[in-house]
Amino acid sequence: MRATLMYGAGDVRVENVRDPQLAEPTDALMTVSRACICGSDLWPYKELPAAPTGRPMGHEAIGIVQAVGAQVRSVKRGDLVIMPFAYSDGTCTFCEAGLQTSCIHGGFFGIGEAGGAQAEALRVPQADGTLFAPGTAGDDSLLPSLLSLSDVMGTGHHAAVCARVHDGAAVAVIGDGAVGLCGVIAAKRLGAEQIIVLGRHPDRIALAREFGATDIVTERGGDALEQVRKLTRGYGAHSVLECVGSEEAMTTALQLVRAGGAIGRVGVPHYEEIAAGGPMFYSNITVSGGPAPVRAYMEELLADILEGRIEPGRVFDRVIALEEVPAGYRAMDERTALKVMIKP
Ligand SMILES: [Zn+2]
Repeated sequence: MRATLMYGAGDVRVENVRDPQLAEPTDALMTVSRACICGSDLWPYKELPAAPTGRPMGHEAIGIVQAVGAQVRSVKRGDLVIMPFAYSDGTCTFCEAGLQTSCIHGGFFGIGEAGGAQAEALRVPQADGTLFAPGTAGDDSLLPSLLSLSDVMGTGHHAAVCARVHDGAAVAVIGDGAVGLCGVIAAKRLGAEQIIVLGRHPDRIALAREFGATDIVTERGGDALEQVRKLTRGYGAHSVLECVGSEEAMTTALQLVRAGGAIGRVGVPHYEEIAAGGPMFYSNITVSGGPAPVRAYMEELLADILEGRIEPGRVFDRVIALEEVPAGYRAMDERTALKVMIKP
């Protein structure tokens, strides 16, 4: 089959690889109907040291189950399924607590033993706990929103949950990528009254407004802080969604949050320490977040998608074939595409 491998920064190739096989009785095999390129794939795209063997890429997909191992009960051949970016058994103490990304038998697609989703097919470990069958035929117009549940919509929602977005809250969203935009959807869903997006890309700002953003701050640094203060009667935001992962973004989040407020961080951190231990303490700031247990949120968010209340699939602004994946990485890296969907 064809699959995407990354051999180093900027070096993405689509190559022939061995077809995936069932290895464990808890596995499923699925063919990929839609996959995508993640903002987090851009970190290795910028930084991965060159290596003779490529890294299988991709961790978001929807697809059709082709075969299941002897112990798999919850999905069967022919089911349309959503694959979260992490696999999990669904039964351990962390899964039962809704934190599938800490599953004791879990792991992440595109890292280690599990393959990548930017491919024609892949093996899914722990299929019963991992795969979610939405129970719909999945007409073409619905597929982008279903695909968003494999990562970005669930991750934006996790940011909002960790930032304790509540009825009437003033929310600031840092990051105008797909996760930040899904964070806008999530904040509105959870009752935010004011949703301030920090960003300056015109298309993304327009989409943010359609998703529910009430204010846009295009300034940076101290000027951005001043604008957010002005918009929140001088107090700052109750909830800040940090959807980037850079040190600068985290510093900004700490400046924008009001006393007693919370920061939900879901951008993969590219910093070692969070500064401002003193101000965080004296202002009772909560910093929470991590890899989103998107599996836990699928059912709840799916209901809103099926009833037409949210349409997170609108973050996909380009559709490419599998062979065009290297160009897809370039487009996302150059920010000429917001989120690229792959149709193998
Ligand atoms: Zn588990």
